[in-house]
Amino acid sequence: MSARSFDIGTLLEFEPPRYLCERCCGLLRAAPFDWHTRKAVCPVCQVEYIPTDEYPYIRVGDYLEQEGLGVAFKDLIGHSRSLASIARQMRTAPASPQLPNGPSLLSGLFQCLLRAERFVHFVSYGMSEMLLGALRMAAQRVAVRGIVSNVEERLATELRDHAADARHLKTRLFERGADAAQWHAMPHQKVIIVDGLLAFKGSANLTLSGWRKAEAGRDIIEVVTDVQEVVALNNRFFSPVWTEFDSRQQIVMTADPFGDD
Ligand SMILES: [Zn+2]
Repeated sequence: MSARSFDIGTLLEFEPPRYLCERCCGLLRAAPFDWHTRKAVCPVCQVEYIPTDEYPYIRVGDYLEQEGLGVAFKDLIGHSRSLASIARQMRTAPASPQLPNGPSLLSGLFQCLLRAERFVHFVSYGMSEMLLGALRMAAQRVAVRGIVSNVEERLATELRDHAADARHLKTRLFERGADAAQWHAMPHQKVIIVDGLLAFKGSANLTLSGWRKAEAGRDIIEVVTDVQEVVALNNRFFSPVWTEFDSRQQIVMTADPFGDD
């Protein structure tokens, strides 16, 4: 096997997100404080973090970590390789002539959910029960945050009344049957973000029919492993809608004794 060229200098450009904003869950590559203005403001949603004796503005990164919003991995390179390997397999799916028994797209999604170490974010137009089950399984270990639109009553009840099945799964819902104004505001973008390192975009609704259609080549699901694009997808398509449900303009940095997401 011939060795491929790899410049370790490219690792210097590898800047995975380090924090999540408490309000918008935007992905931040650095703690959001500004030496000039002496303020700590989220660049994605503009919420201002108000300093306290315990957390002056320069310690906003420590505050976010304490709130469970740090994005650190035990082995960043190993974890990235593992997700990249799933992405590579998925790009050959549905089963190519070289891999007649290759993994399906859904299998790739399940593997990613299984290997997520910090969080999963998604925006989906509808959701099927099987995929809800997969997300609940992932949410036994990591924070799963999702925006679901066009939600029918049964699913809304299931999500609201049985949140204890997966307490790390948090959803914000746009229910079906909304009036015209709400219908126009209903998100139709589809994106799934895993650990800020990998994303699915395209028609990746969390419905079985969507993924089956993509497997049959009748819909598009693209796997993104360019970290800059993953961050942009999260901050552009997930965070602004997530923020709509949270009216805070300021967050006072006091330690939450129950600091759990
Ligand atoms: Zn924010």
